[in-house]
Amino acid sequence: MTTKVPSAGDYIAAKCTKCKAATNHTIVAMVGEKVVKVECNTCGSTHNYRGETKKSPATASRTRTTKPRAAGKAQRTWEELLGNADPGKAIPYSMNTAMKTNVLIVHPTFGLGQVTNIIRPNKMDVCFQSGNKLLRCKTD
Ligand SMILES: [Zn+2]
Repeated sequence: MTTKVPSAGDYIAAKCTKCKAATNHTIVAMVGEKVVKVECNTCGSTHNYRGETKKSPATASRTRTTKPRAAGKAQRTWEELLGNADPGKAIPYSMNTAMKTNVLIVHPTFGLGQVTNIIRPNKMDVCFQSGNKLLRCKTD
């Protein structure tokens, strides 16, 4: 016989793209017996309804990651380098301080970093949490 068919105005549980959680929604548009548009009761946004049981892997989970890959890599390296570092041993960054590889420094803008490479006569690569930076320094 007939199972319960939803109709416009009914409540339906759906995953909200804004709340990023399963919330109560009101059905706002239907095509036949299919729910196509729902309005989130929590944030009020209207979006397409994607049924839980529908099998469409191509469109099912299209989550775009906008995080730049380079930054993610730098972050991991920084954590690897400085995860066990003692910030108390870091020296304040100054252009006039002689630097060596592996020295911990604290930069007023970039924070805690580690010297990964000395480029003579007066530059160094420093790994900061926000990424690698090329800074002026003294070398000995
Ligand atoms: Zn919502």
